[in-house]
Amino acid sequence: MKEPSRTLAWICPHCRQSVIIERTAFALTAAPSRLPCPCGKSELRVEPMDDHFRLTVPCVSCGKEHSVVCSQEAFLHQRAIALSCAASGLDCLYVGEKEPVYAAMRRLEEAADLLPGQDEEEDGTSHFLNAAIMEEVLGELKEIAQREDGITCACGSRRWKMKVGYSAVDLICADCGAALRVPAATDSDLDDLCCKTKLVIRNGRG
Ligand SMILES: [Zn+2]
Ligand SMILES: [Zn+2]
Ligand SMILES: [Zn+2]
Repeated sequence: MKEPSRTLAWICPHCRQSVIIERTAFALTAAPSRLPCPCGKSELRVEPMDDHFRLTVPCVSCGKEHSVVCSQEAFLHQRAIALSCAASGLDCLYVGEKEPVYAAMRRLEEAADLLPGQDEEEDGTSHFLNAAIMEEVLGELKEIAQREDGITCACGSRRWKMKVGYSAVDLICADCGAALRVPAATDSDLDDLCCKTKLVIRNGRG
């Protein structure tokens, strides 16, 4: 039997290349790994702890490193997990089976292309990663909200508020506090939302 392996993928904040690495579950669990980008300027660090992993992830959207803890179960067995940057709302690392990780990466690359380059100064006029898509997404959400029971929470509540972020919109239940993140940066984000007639808030992504 082939040894189970995990695919890890992120975008290097320095050279902006996608880095996709495959490692066996055994190698990841046996000892800490340092997985450098071929450019040598950033690296992903994976440290196995008792029942979880500590990850240090170079983040393309904010340029910093994020230190994250991930349960062993999710890290080694879940089909795909996404870790996201708290500052931008964009994902910074995918871990999982090859196929869903590659699919998620294609999407992240699309969003990362919109980030201001390292040398470019942010002009300060846009509060959104992609203002045009954000506008469309907000319009679409408004339409869904106008339908009967268009936006509800899994807890049964119909009261919610909206928090508009840099690359996503969060719908937050006013009763239980559950949040649904609706990504709003790329054409695929908009396409995904357009095919929905109703949204149910439960913790996770839309
Ligand atoms: Zn690099
Ligand atoms: Zn970040
Ligand atoms: Zn609720």
